[in-house]
Order: sequence, then structure tokens, then C-alpha cells
Amino acid sequence: MSELEFLNALRVEMVRHRELRPGARSHELFQTSTIEALLGGVFDGDLSLSELLEHGDLGLGTLNGLDGELIVIDGDAWKASRDCTLSRAPRSSRTPYAVVVPFSPGPPAAVRGPLQYAALGQVIGHRLEGTLRPVAVRIDGRFEHIRVRSVAKQRRPYPPLAEALAQQGISDLHDVSGTMVGFGFPHPLDGIEMIGWHLHFASDTRTRGGHVLDFALRDGIAHLDDTTELQVELPPAVDVHHSAVIDQDALRRLERDR
Ligand SMILES: [Zn+2]
Repeated sequence: MSELEFLNALRVEMVRHRELRPGARSHELFQTSTIEALLGGVFDGDLSLSELLEHGDLGLGTLNGLDGELIVIDGDAWKASRDCTLSRAPRSSRTPYAVVVPFSPGPPAAVRGPLQYAALGQVIGHRLEGTLRPVAVRIDGRFEHIRVRSVAKQRRPYPPLAEALAQQGISDLHDVSGTMVGFGFPHPLDGIEMIGWHLHFASDTRTRGGHVLDFALRDGIAHLDDTTELQVELPPAVDVHHSAVIDQDALRRLERDR
């Protein structure tokens, strides 16, 4: 187990499966594997969904074999198939990449639309620049339009993620109510995370959803949870030196700007 503390801003901890402690801590993000490993085609992890859900009740990810998009809302895990239809994800299935948090947001804020994806940070009042802390977000609302995608289960030997995504299924949903959940990850976490906003969607009827590519929100309620800790569980196939993964240049720039 190794720990890294920088700028008293975000504590990052890397652990192996056997070092996992049960239970979730408020404002602590938990994730398995890294986006870098997923990009490289590491599509099989060693963590079951029941284990994942011990660490949080809101989040996103995918399932072993890149078998669809994973959406975690209120402790329920949903899987979006390639046609962006939802089904309950079995607790016994495993995940090669997922991020969850025991969601404990601040006061809710009404969002008056129309809100486009590009203006998200501005409208919900959260900037990803100049911070090391990821933010967890949940937006319940009515959408004029939302474009989601999902992926098909891959066969071994696994291709890189970009190749698998070339066969993604895209669905345009119009006039739909639902919930977007996910995270804003600042640039210094490049390699561990997908930088910027990463959101997944499930309709209120829990019939449609996926990874959010674009949206136009009519109106909604936003909930934000500023996180202070990040615990990363590394599957056997992933061996990462955290100091090499976290963007050292970006860290130094942040320190200079202070
Ligand atoms: Zn996604």
C-alpha cells in the first residue's frame, strides 16, 4: 500500500484487492483500476459489483469484457447494453473500471435551462481548473435531448479501448426525464481518470441510458459532493506507480499559481 499527500488537497491511496477495507467514507472516491489501463485494453478486473457498492452508492464504469456502461444511482447498479437499453447489473458481475462515492452532497441547486454540456461547470458553479479535488455530481432533470452511447462486450484478445469504441452504439433520446451521475476530474489526475466531466445517464423509467456524449437540459436539480480522498484498487494486471501516473507538471503549475 502506498499513500501520497500533496497540497493537503487530495489524498490518493493505491491498494490491492487483499488490502481493501470494507465500508465507505464520506467524500472518499473509490475506484477500481485506471482509465489508462482501460484505454490499453485491460477489460477484466477482480472486483465484484457487491464489493464495489460497499464503497459508494453513486457512480459509473463498465463491466468485465467491456460489457456495457455501468450506472450506479441510489445504490442500484444498471447496465446499458449497446442499444442503450438498461437492465439490472448482477451483483456477482465484475468490473474492470468503475468509480463510486458514498454520495453526500451539499444543498441542492435548481438549474434553469436550457443548459448545454459545454456550459455545465459554469452553471453548476464548479470549476475544474485550479483544483486537485474531483467533484461528484448528480443532476435530476428534464432533457430536451440527450445523446448516450454504450459498448458491446468484447472478445479476447481485447483490442485497445479506441478500437472497441469504434463499434459503440449511439442513441438520441428526446424529451426524457432522468438522472445524470458522474464526476468532474481535474487535469492532474490524468492517467488515473478521464479528465473533465464524465457522466452517465439513466432515464426515470430506468429503461434507457449510457455514457453521456451530449445533452440539452430543460431544467433540473443539481447536487454536488466535493471529494477529499481517492482510493484506487489496482487489479493484478495493472501495476502503476502513482507518482508517474499523476501529472507532475500540472501539479507544479498549480503550486506556482498559489
Ligand atoms: Zn463513461
